[in-house]
Amino acid sequence: MFNAYESDLSTLEPQFTQTTTPTGKVNFYSMTLEDLKGFLKGRGKEQFRAQQIFKWVYDERVTDVESMSNLSKAFRAELPEIMSFDLPPVLKHLKSVDGTQKFLFDMKEGNSVEAVLIPSEDRLTLCLSSEVGCNMACKFCFTGKQKLKRRLTTEEIVGQFMQVHDRLGEGQRISNIVFMGMGEPLDNPEAVFKSIEVLQNPFGMMLSRRKITVSTSGLVPQIKLVANARVRLAVSLNGSNDDIRSKVMPINKKYPLKELLEACKEFCDQTKDKITFEYVLLKGVTDQLEHAREVVRLLKHVPSKINIIPFNEHPGSGFERPSDEQIEKFHTELIRLGAHVLLRRTMGRDIFAACGQLTTVTDRPETMDISNSKIGSTNERHFSSGQLSL
Ligand code: SAH
Ligand code: SF4
Repeated sequence: MFNAYESDLSTLEPQFTQTTTPTGKVNFYSMTLEDLKGFLKGRGKEQFRAQQIFKWVYDERVTDVESMSNLSKAFRAELPEIMSFDLPPVLKHLKSVDGTQKFLFDMKEGNSVEAVLIPSEDRLTLCLSSEVGCNMACKFCFTGKQKLKRRLTTEEIVGQFMQVHDRLGEGQRISNIVFMGMGEPLDNPEAVFKSIEVLQNPFGMMLSRRKITVSTSGLVPQIKLVANARVRLAVSLNGSNDDIRSKVMPINKKYPLKELLEACKEFCDQTKDKITFEYVLLKGVTDQLEHAREVVRLLKHVPSKINIIPFNEHPGSGFERPSDEQIEKFHTELIRLGAHVLLRRTMGRDIFAACGQLTTVTDRPETMDISNSKIGSTNERHFSSGQLSL
């Protein structure tokens, strides 16, 4: 299953693929600019029309074809017959006391996914989902409790972005995107990398590739796709040796640390970029000082930053969040050893929008009161670095 995309996606040349709706129309958001050119060419239209339509939709946010004044009257009449501009409906929109916002999207047939908008001083980061559920089954992850139901399509990924974009306040702009929501992005590379092509396009949302990060649990063969797409890479390490990592992340049995780190080194050589390693602190499992030393030894030859994430608790996980004191000790030890380290401030806990809390399962309250939570309040003091500072 993990190698399924290896051969056909080793180079992600623009290709003309499209998703048709039940009405037989193609969904506009499923297409890169090149796809749209191909689509129009197949219907005898000039290719520059593709740029015009991209600009209307992404730049002007006009999807009423009748208002696209630089298209001919005949074309305006024809376009709605062959193309739809449907976006995944927003089922819920929750706002955290800390400014984080969570969006729940209807992905049809009882499926839903979440996206999280995280403000910080200098950026507005959108965390996108790539799959409904996830087959990687990491033991500490709420999403991993649900098996993969479905990989999202390009228009469903671009659609999350556009829906959030359309709800921003005056003067706000999403500056960064991270594939750190539900699912394993490298288990759905076709739609993930196509949506990146759409969102970075100068006639699209003009996001810089440097502001796009794909986070993986370590699907080694697909890591080169991240390098080819010239976007940034985050790797969920979460274990300082094969023994611990295999216990908390079953994917490690297939791609152990040696292979993973070799692929990481290749990534850095090819891109001259650093990798962010995410490291979840699980009480008694990954939070000991010897683990910190092991992590530093492991990453010695990989240009990297370490992002430590205190475990976000969820019912029945069997793991606990370490004490603030232990978190601080671990942090300090990494710094003492010369690592470039960030302690991720936990955001959106009250609306279950924090890492590993995303799910489609609805058997939990929508919000929780964290006003008296020791962890919530002390975090605000200790965790000065912004979340998702990649
Ligand atoms: N599937 C990808 C991206 C989504 S998970 C991946 O695994 O990298 C995003 C991040 O959330 C990962 O680094 C993961 O280790 C972390 N995470 C998952 N569950 C968590 C939890 N309960 N508490 C804290 N971080 C968690
Ligand atoms: Fe999937 Fe990432 Fe959760 Fe692991 S941590 S189960 S890869 S979403």
